[in-house]
Amino acid sequence: MKYVSTRGQAPVLEFEDVMLAGLARDGGLYVPESWPTFSAEQISALRGCSYQEIAFQVMFPFVSSSITETEFKDLIEQAYEGFAHRAVAPLVQMDDHLWLLELFHGPTLAFKDFAMQILGLLMDRALIKRGERATILGATSGDTGGAAIEAFRGREQIDIFILHPHGRVSDVQRRQMTTAREENVFNIALEGTFDDCQAMVKALFNDHEFRDGMKVTGVNSINWARIMAQIVYYFTASVALGSPSNPLSFAVPTGNFGDVFAGFVAHKMGLPIEKLVVATNVNDILVRTLETGTYKPDGVTATYSPSMDIQVSSNFERLMFEMAGRDASRIETLMSDLSEKGEFQLSENELAPMRDLFVGLRIDEDDTVSRIKAEYQDNHYIIDPHSAIALEAGARCLKDNETTPMIALATAHPAKFPDVVTKATGVEVPQPARLVAQLKSEERVTRLPNDLAEVSNFIADKTRAGDTT
Ligand SMILES: *Cc1c(COP(=O)(O)O)cnc(C)c1O
Repeated sequence: MKYVSTRGQAPVLEFEDVMLAGLARDGGLYVPESWPTFSAEQISALRGCSYQEIAFQVMFPFVSSSITETEFKDLIEQAYEGFAHRAVAPLVQMDDHLWLLELFHGPTLAFKDFAMQILGLLMDRALIKRGERATILGATSGDTGGAAIEAFRGREQIDIFILHPHGRVSDVQRRQMTTAREENVFNIALEGTFDDCQAMVKALFNDHEFRDGMKVTGVNSINWARIMAQIVYYFTASVALGSPSNPLSFAVPTGNFGDVFAGFVAHKMGLPIEKLVVATNVNDILVRTLETGTYKPDGVTATYSPSMDIQVSSNFERLMFEMAGRDASRIETLMSDLSEKGEFQLSENELAPMRDLFVGLRIDEDDTVSRIKAEYQDNHYIIDPHSAIALEAGARCLKDNETTPMIALATAHPAKFPDVVTKATGVEVPQPARLVAQLKSEERVTRLPNDLAEVSNFIADKTRAGDTT
């Protein structure tokens, strides 16, 4: 499988190079040259298979030029063995036609573990094979940093540096990052906001001498390998509920559009998916875009579901590329409109097929809290605010079409957001054992001023990658 950039100017690459590059050189996002497809018979044949077996079948077409079957199966086993549930991604029934897909049994209790765990193993393997090292650099406002550190701690060829805004992430989120003991993990508490952290990381990426010298790479959700790993649970959930005979819909709590784009890919690959509900909090750029065709970022509001507090939704570019008939010059035009005029306008031809499959729903703070409360009162089941948004949006969409089962994605464990969950339910959220252990461990973190030279000197000094070693 070869990969092309959505902006058409970057070299066509194989999987491994796409994974190591992250962003394409022309500023675009890599997508497979074509979508592998599964026939109805092939989907039926997945019934009764384990999560790991389905993961292999679904992902292998994307990676087959870079890894053997046996090696890939072995990495999949390792990636998911740390999950605290035998089914890896179990389904729970919430109402007659409404289901919840629990994606929070990984080591950091959020769905980002699904992709990050396999990405850590695939990257380390590729670098060992090439005799190279890399420096992973990222900024986090919460979940991504923890999942990345958990996946990359102790990896042989990689050092990881994660910036978080000092004093501005939750206790649970900070401790999930700072209690890693491995020598290749560096937490930087930057004296500034999350935007300062992001600006700092961007500045370091744009310093090509630094970037090439320190072999810097990123693992944010624009990395194709992350999307690929998220396609799998759309398959496992569908097959469990009777695919390919029964069509299904999914409600996905959405920020950067990575998770719901993976659902789109599953649809492209042949899964009978009727609707993909793009469920957002009040940061509703995607809902507005689906309604009006105008994509226009405006400020971010802090909510109970911080992992969805976004201003721009990077992975949306991948969908636009598909809707524009894979015309990279059209994407160039739209993206330059965005940087010059602060917005772009999709055409009717691009919007119509989008609206056939995607439904946008915005869930405000009150309705998020009410949903957490209702699930506890009616079902004795405690959900986190991100999952509540998915369930609420899924339930609203079901009202219009009662015949197709709806699966809402539960992307985080409620113990990660104890304040709002306790406020809604009136009960303390039980903490999983692995979290209790983490919360007690010693923290390792370096506090640095919001100063480019200080941060880049720190990284250059600590990383094992780069010219001097
Ligand atoms: C990252 C995240 C999301 C949003 O996923 P995207 O792929 O960015 O749309 C939703 N819920 C939780 C808990 C997350 O960590």
